[in-house]
Order: sequence, then C-alpha cells, then structure tokens
Amino acid sequence: MSYQIAIDGPAGAGKSTIAKKVAKTKGFIYVDTGAMYRAMAYYLLTEKVNPENAKEIEDKCQGADITIQYVDGEQVVLLNGANVNGVLRTEEVGNMASTTSKNPKVRERLTQLQKELAAKNDVVMDGRDIGTCVLPNADVKIYLTASSAVRAKRRFDELTAKGESCDIKKIEEDIVKRDQQDMSREIAPLKQAEDAHLVDSSYMTIEEVVQKILSLCK
Ligand code: C5P
Repeated sequence: MSYQIAIDGPAGAGKSTIAKKVAKTKGFIYVDTGAMYRAMAYYLLTEKVNPENAKEIEDKCQGADITIQYVDGEQVVLLNGANVNGVLRTEEVGNMASTTSKNPKVRERLTQLQKELAAKNDVVMDGRDIGTCVLPNADVKIYLTASSAVRAKRRFDELTAKGESCDIKKIEEDIVKRDQQDMSREIAPLKQAEDAHLVDSSYMTIEEVVQKILSLCK
C-alpha cells in the first residue's frame, strides 16, 4: 500500500510550498491537483468556452488530455502532450479554474487520474477535496489555512518581488471570492475532513508548518 498525505485548504495558504518540502523530505512524489484544474481551465479558455455554460464545458473538456510527468522531481503538467506549466499561474487561469472545477465531468476526469497516481506512488497531494473525496483513506490529512489578510499579503509580496504592481485590497477580495466559490459548490466543496488536522499558518514559518506535518506522519 502506498503512503498518502493529503493537504487541503483555501487559496494562498501555502499548500504547494509546504507540500513540496514534505514530499522532498519523505522521498514521495508531490501532486499539485490545482495545476490539473488550471490546465483544464487554460484549455477551456483557449477554446473560448463560456464559463457559465455547463453543457459547453462538459462537451469541450473531453478534448483535454491532461497527464503528469516528473522532470528532476518537478511536476510537469502535459495538456494534449504539451508542457503547460509556464502558463498556469495567472489570476485569469486561477479564477477560470475555480469556476470550471464546479463541473462534475471536469472533476470526474481529474479525480480519476489523481487516484491512479496515489495508488501507484507514495504521495503528498494538495488541493481542495483530497482528504474528503480523492483520498478518503489517506494516512495523514491536513487542513492548512491562514487568515485572508495574511494570504493576501503573501501573494502581494510574491507579485511585488516579481516587479508586478498590484493592489492588496483587490487581491484579498479575489481570495475571499474564490474561497466562497470553492466552499459553496455542490460537488466536492472545500471543507475540512472530519479526521483532518487543522493547521493555521498565519503566524507560523514555513519550516514550522513542515515540521508539524512531519511529526504527524510518525
Ligand atoms: O490550488 P490552486 O489555486 O492552483 O487551484 C485552482 C482552483 O482549482 C481552485 O480555486 C479550485 O476551484 C480548483 N481545485 C479544485 N480541487 C482541487 C484543486 C483545485 O476544485 N483538488
């Protein structure tokens, strides 16, 4: 049996940074499920699909073949055979992903792939529904969160470090809107699994969060 660590939580809580470090320490693969939803959203954007039209999303999502490869330990998302890692982390793609991930057909396709990866490998998998739906029997489940103000500040620092100008109020508004959308959808909403450990990273360093999770794996 593979060992499974599930990390769920809202946007900007630091899931991917933490999950990568935990995976590296344990020698497990890291599966960023958000990137798969983003790849699907990117495909639907390029196909000019109306995000409010469920039928159109259902039809078009069949044309997206999304797979994952590991290159030097890094997850590479392939969309119909092409590496799309470089185009996934924009606000436009993130917001589209939050809207299109509500669709049951989209979730069905991606959840299947995630389950297969976790059956074959020891994994640290992060997302919104990993502990509740994708890996309900995960060995360790974490619900990682932080206040919206702290999450907005982290995102603001990240963008300004890249030389992009941005408005912290607008970032926080977007974060709150995306959380609401992810928490209120009908299928696989973002919520803490009953057996998940709650970790609030608002006033913790990355290393403290990593150590906390590693200690829960013992
Ligand atoms: O984590 P990230 O910001 O990359 O995720 C983008 C969007 O993909 C989320 O806002 C959410 O709507 C969706 N998602 C999901 N289930 C997951 C991972 C991500 O619905 N397991």
